[in-house]
Amino acid sequence: MKKIFALLLTCLLCLSVVGCSEKPYQAAWDGFCYTSAEHHAVEMESEDRKYIIDLLNKAVWETNIEDCECDFYFSLQRQRVEYHSECGTFNDITNSKSTKVAEEQRIKINSILSLDASKEKLEDGFKPSNSAEAPSLYCAYRSDKTEFPIDDVTLDFYYGGYYYQGVEYELENTHDIPSFELYFQDDYGGKFFIKRVEENFVSEKYSCNVVYDDNWNITEVKFNHSETITIPREIFAEESGLIYFSVFGTNQKEVEPQVKVITGIGFYYKVVDGKVTLSKQPIN
Ligand SMILES: [Zn+2]
Repeated sequence: MKKIFALLLTCLLCLSVVGCSEKPYQAAWDGFCYTSAEHHAVEMESEDRKYIIDLLNKAVWETNIEDCECDFYFSLQRQRVEYHSECGTFNDITNSKSTKVAEEQRIKINSILSLDASKEKLEDGFKPSNSAEAPSLYCAYRSDKTEFPIDDVTLDFYYGGYYYQGVEYELENTHDIPSFELYFQDDYGGKFFIKRVEENFVSEKYSCNVVYDDNWNITEVKFNHSETITIPREIFAEESGLIYFSVFGTNQKEVEPQVKVITGIGFYYKVVDGKVTLSKQPIN
């Protein structure tokens, strides 16, 4: 009798465990967290993602949906979960249940979510969309912010060439650019001189390396050289526009050498109340 009772109990336990256990929360393969209003993806570090997932999986849930104005939602493999940053409530819409995190957890989650705005970076050129034939001359820029005072729009610019047969071979056979000049240009015809460099562009100093994936697509360009340059404020004459950073030089290996753009990169700007916003995409 005892044995049967024990067996029954085990069965009941199994049943109840199976019955109560819902599928664990797991991040979806693509995308994880979005703003409710504009469906902007919120980028976060994998450890932060894990923090939130773990929290959901350890939470004690109530069988109701809280009437919250959730400002974020999480796209998970099997559930849709919404989050209200003001009160710290998670609503599991799929399973009609909710949980409210402790205040210190709410603060931590909110810092993960709002950190995104301050982590917004400006960069382009490090992952060329097409794998151009080598040798290739590259250009990129980077900043840890997107908004600047108009008289201090300062970015890091990167430029250089990738010479898969080496600098010496390049100099002898295809590219010899003994000096070069840096300019900003706008799309209204303005050209702003930055400086002249009396060094050969085809050199180790101005070289870069490329990283390939398994399909020989370039996933990253690594530059030997970068410099910090402030964009002249005169270029922000219009409310918005396009700016090019250009490296001009003369390749002596060409049949008729002439000054040309060796490499360059463009980006958009918008001026509002003395502040300049930059973006690699057109700004509305
Ligand atoms: Zn709420």
